[in-house]
Amino acid sequence: MSTLALDDRRLLVELQSLGVRVDDARTNPTELQGRRGGAGPSDLGFMWIRGLPLTVPLHDLAARSPYTLRITDAGGELWLGDDLVGPAVLPPRPKIYDMVTKDGIPYWKIALLHLDSIASTVVQRCIYWGTHEQCHFCGIELTRGERTIPVKTPEQLAEVAAAAKEHDGAVDVTLTTGSVNRTDRGALYISRCAAAIKDACGLPVQVQFEPPDDLSVLEEVRRAGVDAVGIHMETFDPEVLARIAPGKAALGVEGYFRTWERAVEVFGRGSVTTYVILGMGERPELIEEGCRRAIAMGVYPFVVPLKPVAGTLLEDATPPDADYVASIYRSVSEMLAEAGMDHMDAKAGCARCQACSGLSAWERLFRKEQVREIARQLDDNR
Ligand code: SF4
Repeated sequence: MSTLALDDRRLLVELQSLGVRVDDARTNPTELQGRRGGAGPSDLGFMWIRGLPLTVPLHDLAARSPYTLRITDAGGELWLGDDLVGPAVLPPRPKIYDMVTKDGIPYWKIALLHLDSIASTVVQRCIYWGTHEQCHFCGIELTRGERTIPVKTPEQLAEVAAAAKEHDGAVDVTLTTGSVNRTDRGALYISRCAAAIKDACGLPVQVQFEPPDDLSVLEEVRRAGVDAVGIHMETFDPEVLARIAPGKAALGVEGYFRTWERAVEVFGRGSVTTYVILGMGERPELIEEGCRRAIAMGVYPFVVPLKPVAGTLLEDATPPDADYVASIYRSVSEMLAEAGMDHMDAKAGCARCQACSGLSAWERLFRKEQVREIARQLDDNR
């Protein structure tokens, strides 16, 4: 056995792309904190590696990963083959997972704790699902039956969020929904849920929805008390968008930019995010160009590698090459630094949490490198 010194950035990218196999040797194992299905990242587990928050593929996708998470009664260890990479800190089972709502629903069917963010897919349905418009990476209607309830009420969400703040230290709330209609896309219902949460516990809330047909809906969302929005185009390559997310492609790349422009006016710079999924056959130069334009407008591009989820139309896809993901993280983090945009400014949601993306690690390391470079130049000039 030897201890392996892997560059943090390489480690992050490989873990997010390849996942970890789990070797659980605890005498009394409990389920790892994570989630299966839903509109965002799924089939994932949460952990901290070298102080960095991470969501890592755990289940079918990780079967061929060279990384193993060994869990013993003393804690977690990450291994690469026979080499120990280091400790993995696993979050304890949230206390709210043993609680039930006033109407008798287990809290874990209403919302899940993603490290320190309480998150829910409020409406587990999408008009695109099962049609030619379905997004190929999405698993929104895969989570069914005993694992959730299809529609969560504002009252249930308020109760669970308040408890997550009190008992598990949740610091924000992330709410997402399928596209439930072709008008407001579910933004108004999800905002009522956000308003109930704010009333109950005051936590900052990010809500995620597709672009509404009438952009004045964005002002209604703001009036409900929502702090930040995610309006996710998923890729800046129009050919990939048309192939992978035909429902979203109907609005087109420019339609998203129009929506974001208004959303930034309403919510402010850095409070509007879009997912950018790498590894779907996109042209890298279009991704960089799109990220540059979004950042200039005040939109935070939340870059993540594709994690193909069992049951989705992309379940057999191969995750992107780690070097490619690393190169995009690097260039986008440089753009963010140049624009003075920082994930630390995000009040709530994916950009604040960062566990699904390695971008914040790049932001931090990039800043350290800049400071070192300035110090070196000052030394040279002495
Ligand atoms: S719009 Fe696409 S990503 Fe969003 S829930 Fe519907 S199918 Fe899933």
